[in-house]
Amino acid sequence: MSEINTYKYYVGGKFAESNSGNLIDIECPYEKTVIGRVQAISKEEADVAIAATKSAQKEWAELDLFKRADLLNKWADQLEIDAHDIAEIIMKEVGKTWNDAVKEVTRTAEFIRYTVQEYIHTNDSAMSGENYPGGSKNKIAIIKRIPLGTVLAISPFNYPVNLSVAKLAPALISGNAVVFKPATQGAISAVKIIESFDKVGFPANVLQLITGKGSDIGDYVSEHEGIDMISFTGGATTGRHLSSFSTMKPMVLELGGKDPAIVCEDADIDQAVTEIMSGAYSYSGQRCTAIKRVLVNEAVADELAAKLKVEVEALSVGMPIDNPVIVPLINKGSADYVDGLITDTIKDGATLLVGNKREDNLIYPTLFDHVTTDMRLAWEEPFGPVLPIIRVKSDEEAIKIANQSEYGLQASVFSRNFSRAVAIAGKIEAGSVQINGRTERGPDHFPFLGVKNSGMGVHGISKTIDAMTREKLLIINL
Ligand code: NAP
Repeated sequence: MSEINTYKYYVGGKFAESNSGNLIDIECPYEKTVIGRVQAISKEEADVAIAATKSAQKEWAELDLFKRADLLNKWADQLEIDAHDIAEIIMKEVGKTWNDAVKEVTRTAEFIRYTVQEYIHTNDSAMSGENYPGGSKNKIAIIKRIPLGTVLAISPFNYPVNLSVAKLAPALISGNAVVFKPATQGAISAVKIIESFDKVGFPANVLQLITGKGSDIGDYVSEHEGIDMISFTGGATTGRHLSSFSTMKPMVLELGGKDPAIVCEDADIDQAVTEIMSGAYSYSGQRCTAIKRVLVNEAVADELAAKLKVEVEALSVGMPIDNPVIVPLINKGSADYVDGLITDTIKDGATLLVGNKREDNLIYPTLFDHVTTDMRLAWEEPFGPVLPIIRVKSDEEAIKIANQSEYGLQASVFSRNFSRAVAIAGKIEAGSVQINGRTERGPDHFPFLGVKNSGMGVHGISKTIDAMTREKLLIINL
């Protein structure tokens, strides 16, 4: 039997073991073996990590921008060099397919390079020269954006590299220091990207990686007076909890969703089927922007349901190394939850078209027709491969059901009539509405946001930089 690796946390520019002596086993979601152990750091160690960012941040912010840019670009290069090593961990740790794991790393390297360019062009060029003349007063105000200080970056399990670096890179290029708390199931992937970071030669203490369960250290670090801003991606319950005590602390929350695909009777049904299939089922639906319900006009519901059924039956199911669409879910708790939703939906009288089969954490792709608004599946986020079809009589009814959700991340509208689609989109309560396309994050420089329980504030490269900086005025009295 091969020895199990123990991964260290990262503080003061070095990898370290926690004095707590506590380690957390990380189990592969599909092989059910322990693939490594991460440190459960103590609150005192979190204190030390946060305190050390303070002077490091000031020096980092004063460092020539092109030196900061150069280091970040080198990190991007290093991630590409280490891509296979990192992808292997992503696959084993969060059960993402091999191809998607590799893509996640290369997309992340591109993200860093874009972020660097964006910052240089918007914050260090003529475009950044905002000023306010003082009118009848003999004054002029020159506006500069400055970093907030120490950013706490908390990321979820499902994109352990991309959604982490989507916080780290904008924070660093704009002169902040970072305390990075990854999802525990995702913490080895986090160590791997910080190993790449470490090879490049950033100054010590500008980025600290702290590992440990959110339930143990999450509240402590989030409330910590040394944290100047929180960038969080994860579930709505955790996000709401964090926002309940974030007094006077800027915070951006990217949370869950129940994204609807609204299909009008004049839609190109084949196109809608293609988009719904990749929107709903890729990575077994473990995407915040997965299509999680279909609201279809009853005039075309039979055709849409029949075509979706054929496609769902044909979905590949298996282990991540073979690159299927459907892979085992992240853990037993998630699989139990999705299983329970399926059982209740059958009990409640919906028509099961495909699925309702489970092997351990592997939930086979499941499709329901005739789901109604009194069923849990109409409202809850499964984070698994189960899709409800809800039949509606009109656009108004589709909009009403879409907006009754507690969530408002994204939505899709399928119609050949552009004016009609735009009119529906205008009435949907969501951060973004896709016309004739699946719900998805990206390209990464697009603004990305959710309303209601789907989030607060805006992400997307330039918007994240804005959220992690603030205006400072220099007022010259003439
Ligand atoms: P989660 O359980 O809410 O965890 C997210 C992060 O919060 C993890 O790092 C977790 O650490 C940490 N955490 C837990 N309790 C905490 C506390 N009291 N204080 C501070 N941090 C705490 O979410 P998940 O299961 O990883 O991710 C799935 C959810 O994220 C879904 O709802 C999905 O829709 C959403 N998501 C949203 C977006 C978006 O952009 N809108 C993107 C991806 C995912 P531990 O792992 O140690 O508990």
